[in-house]
Amino acid sequence: MATLGNPKNTIAVLQKYQFNFQKKFGQNFLIDTGILEEIIEAAQITKDDFVLEIGPGIGTMTQYLCEAARAVVAVEIDTNLIPILKDTLAEYNNVDVLNEDILKVNISKLAEEKNNGKPIKVVANLPYYITTPIIMGLFESHVPIDSITIMVQKEVADRMQEGPGSKEYGALSLAVQYYAKPEIVVNVPPSCFMPQPKVGSAVIRLTRHSEPPVTVKSEKLLFQVIRASFNQRRKTLANGLANYGAFGLPKEELQACIEKLGVPVNIRGEALSLEQFAQLSNIIYDHRS
Ligand code: SAM
Repeated sequence: MATLGNPKNTIAVLQKYQFNFQKKFGQNFLIDTGILEEIIEAAQITKDDFVLEIGPGIGTMTQYLCEAARAVVAVEIDTNLIPILKDTLAEYNNVDVLNEDILKVNISKLAEEKNNGKPIKVVANLPYYITTPIIMGLFESHVPIDSITIMVQKEVADRMQEGPGSKEYGALSLAVQYYAKPEIVVNVPPSCFMPQPKVGSAVIRLTRHSEPPVTVKSEKLLFQVIRASFNQRRKTLANGLANYGAFGLPKEELQACIEKLGVPVNIRGEALSLEQFAQLSNIIYDHRS
């Protein structure tokens, strides 16, 4: 039975193993059964599913996942947590714990071996310092993914959902929305963790699109254009693109591409929608060929 959501049980485990939290691994363990249940429900896990959990900690959410899913692989970087996980997950025979850095794991291979290459579900209470590389790594490597349900810093969850005109809108919003539909599930206050983080958190579910919502001639070029536009937020789009230097076109020609898009030449990147970024990348693509 899943018992670790209760703070008393978490403290008992931590004391038994004299566990010291490691700041460098972003260790804030969940101690709220209500939030744990909401995460499992939002992830829509069934007994058919294979779930990859990133950063199981002492196994609190892992226990819930083992009860809901067919099979679970939990990837934990901190070697000190491995004997603890062995103990807290002893009653489950559908879980494998890997003592690895998730950024070095071949997730496609894992999906192939454990789920016959079919789309997997990812669930994680992420260490905040590697949220973006983990999410972008999962999407860009084209690992077969059904959904990613993750706890992230509240501000990052907001950024993933925003559109043009918002202060939070940026390269992460566009990248996430190109690959998936983001929905904030619940906001989570610091009091739900041990130790308490300094910032608020939120659970967000990213449901992978079967097809991207826009069509581009080159995904690589689309993301270069997006990155160039937000690298220098206070500059105009034309200056941002020209200063980025990866397009092989002088500023005047990049300006011509922007005009062809039908927007003012002094527009800033933050005013463009995903659809417009896609069109602009296609115009630059054609202009170069
Ligand atoms: N899932 C647990 C919970 O909810 O109580 C722990 C969440 S804690 C915020 C993040 C976990 O990710 C920690 O256990 C930490 O050691 C682990 N972690 C940090 N960096 C990692 C990495 N690169 N690869 C795998 N796990 C990592």
